[in-house]
Amino acid sequence: YSKYAHLFQREQQFVSTQSSQAKKQYIEERKVVNGTIGEVIRKFEKGKLLGKGGFAKVFQLTDVHTHQRYAGKIIPKGAIRKESAKQKLISEIRIHRELRHRHIVKFESCFEDQENVYIVLELCPNGSVMDMVRKRGRLTEYETRYFMIQVLDAIRYMHRECLVIHRDLKLGNFFLDENMEVKIGDFGLAAQLTSEKERKRTICGTPNYIAPEILSGKEGHSFEVDIWSTGVVFYTMLVGKPPFETSDVKSTYKRIKENIYSIPESLGLSSNAIELIGSILNSDPAKRLSLDEIRSHPFFDAKIPRALTSHALISTPTFE
Ligand code: ADP
Repeated sequence: YSKYAHLFQREQQFVSTQSSQAKKQYIEERKVVNGTIGEVIRKFEKGKLLGKGGFAKVFQLTDVHTHQRYAGKIIPKGAIRKESAKQKLISEIRIHRELRHRHIVKFESCFEDQENVYIVLELCPNGSVMDMVRKRGRLTEYETRYFMIQVLDAIRYMHRECLVIHRDLKLGNFFLDENMEVKIGDFGLAAQLTSEKERKRTICGTPNYIAPEILSGKEGHSFEVDIWSTGVVFYTMLVGKPPFETSDVKSTYKRIKENIYSIPESLGLSSNAIELIGSILNSDPAKRLSLDEIRSHPFFDAKIPRALTSHALISTPTFE
């Protein structure tokens, strides 16, 4: 039926059929037995558009039997004709489907029809931390502690238990579920190492968040690039814009390589926050703090919210 099938499924092959009734659109996940399309496994009602990515459109999907809601990433096969794009998607699926953590977007299933590849994901209805920072200007240290602890826990799991480097950690990939918990998503640039010692050489990432050793590209890079991006994320939550941001990519790269950034004094950040930013954004990957060192930094000794309400999406919580 499809030359992609073996890549997206392990034992069982699934396809989908689309139908529409009374203006409602449905996506059906179907079994394939010996090359013949068989029974319907699950049927989703296609809902509103949640967002657009490089090639993908993401819609809200509702399982018509359980009423459980999901995010459905729909990738037109026409957009992944190029071998590099196809490989990127295959790698994203292979890595993401193995990850299971409270703070990583859950990969539910994946199937295809002649036109599209469908990836069914845990729904994060509250947008991303980037939307939140845009709306609010910046976050409080109190909230930043709450998000950072969740993110650090997820990265520790990826690195230690799965040997996965995300390589595109940024506020736009920190999605928020209905309880305002962070779920890391978008594994399109992730790499899985075969051993702790392997080094990666591909230049990738998002300009503002890219680590200096990727730009110099001499000895390859590893898990430390995610720690660097975590430092950029940390700074951006507290200050409201990324530390090395300029109007053009070249000057941003120059600043990253020379480690030029400043923290406006007017923001009144705590000395612990400023010290932690500096120790994470160390140009030498060997001297950069480890995940455990970040987590045990005195910055985290202060008050941490047990939960946030979605009110925090639009206005600063009053507490301290
Ligand atoms: P790409 O990898 O092509 O950039 P993303 O995975 O970043 O695509 O998704 C594109 C957009 O779709 C996101 O910016 C977001 O608005 C929305 N989106 C993605 N995943 C989810 C999800 N699990 N829940 C809710 N919205 C999502």
